[in-house]
Amino acid sequence: MTDRILIAGSGQAGFQTAASLRQDGFESEILIIGEEPGLPYQRPPLSKGYIKDPNPDRLLFRNADFFEKNRIGLEDGRTVTGIDRADRTVTLSNGRTIAYGHLVLATGTRNRRLPLPGIDLDNVVGLRTLADAENLRERLAGASRLVVVGGGFIGLEVAATARAAGLHVTVLEATARLMSRVVSPPVSEYFYAVHTASGVDVRLNSLARAILDDGAGKAGGVETAEGERIPADLVLISAGVIPNAEIAEAAGLYVHDGVRVDDLLATEDPAISAIGDCASFPFGQEGLQIRLESVQNAIDQAKCLSRRLVGHPERYDKLPWFWSDQGPHKLQIAGLTAGADHHEIRGGVDDGKLSVQCFRLGELIGVETVNVPGDHMAARRLLSQPTPLTLEAVQASGFDLAALMKAGASRG
Ligand SMILES: Cc1cc2nc3c(=O)[nH]c(=O)nc-3n(C[C@H](O)[C@H](O)[C@H](O)COP(=O)(O)OP(=O)(O)OC[C@H]3O[C@@H](n4cnc5c(N)ncnc54)[C@H](O)[C@@H]3O)c2cc1C
Repeated sequence: MTDRILIAGSGQAGFQTAASLRQDGFESEILIIGEEPGLPYQRPPLSKGYIKDPNPDRLLFRNADFFEKNRIGLEDGRTVTGIDRADRTVTLSNGRTIAYGHLVLATGTRNRRLPLPGIDLDNVVGLRTLADAENLRERLAGASRLVVVGGGFIGLEVAATARAAGLHVTVLEATARLMSRVVSPPVSEYFYAVHTASGVDVRLNSLARAILDDGAGKAGGVETAEGERIPADLVLISAGVIPNAEIAEAAGLYVHDGVRVDDLLATEDPAISAIGDCASFPFGQEGLQIRLESVQNAIDQAKCLSRRLVGHPERYDKLPWFWSDQGPHKLQIAGLTAGADHHEIRGGVDDGKLSVQCFRLGELIGVETVNVPGDHMAARRLLSQPTPLTLEAVQASGFDLAALMKAGASRG
């Protein structure tokens, strides 16, 4: 028997679990197995500042000293390839077998591969890892026409940076609006307007059908389902991700869009938990099971799991929040806004800022802002309170979240 906590995955969630365990007083061995080479690093800058100003050291969560001081073992460049639940051991890609007292699955996601002709051509790239970001940065420097397949956060962040650097940029989005999975229509419209105004050619309802070979083994363009051929010397595919859950599934754990966990972030095996992008967890009162891809979720779930592993179990119920920097525009989202049936909109493109309060069945469920950080912070506070805010209460304040927050603070 061992007390060792073994963490599969050295990303945001895996690193945070190890750091929190030490902070929470866990004394036994902690070992992280990470597929990527090197020390754990943060991904958000990869599609933002890193393209313009690359400095890998600035991405690191902590340097090597931190790991040594805190007795956090890291085997990088290795994957966990199998789990033996009966023996409580894992097998690594180098053939080694390691025993665990508790296994944390923090394996994240990988980019969805589109089954398109030409997808393997040399200058068709994705963005998930530091290695991807290096590759993208080098290729952007020599490119003049970029086609981005997928109008989500990452595709639009790169599109804005590439456009600012003078490239001709086209974004192909399969649905009727940008970031349609995660933001309300007013926010999609705002970003459509600002990207178009900056010269990005945004095509909605536009499906890529093939990547065209330029005759020399490189992509020369993208063909859309309507048969249009858009020239390109670089193609970025940013069409969503797939959770890395195969090792969990092979071990007999329940997997459905991620490794399924309960509100303590535990799988059906008491010795295995799953957190971060790879985990599907219960959310809200309606029995929903969701999977989120965000730094907030990875960090808060890691902290919650650490508390349980040191003997203080708490239900996971943190408010989700997100951000995305697209050129000079800062999008911030508090709460989950899909399913809203009423939007209160303040501002717009002409004001250079926007605030969208999203209501469902007469209650505030989330707030999306562009360039209004004060509203975002107020929304996070208000939405974290146990009692939901009604439409009437928000209306009575003149839809002024900062005033509502102050009123709440003075009451409490
Ligand atoms: C370019 C980019 C920009 C982003 N920008 C933002 C942003 O602005 N705001 C925001 O909130 N979020 C952003 N995100 C999302 C955020 O980075 C993720 O939600 C977060 O990293 C999730 O952490 P994680 O630890 O669950 O997964 P990851 O960080 O993906 O880490 C998982 C790690 O596990 C490794 N792994 C997989 N399988 C195995 C295995 N079997 N054995 C060992 N290791 C394994 C993977 O290689 C990876 O290193 C961005 C993501 C990307 C890619």
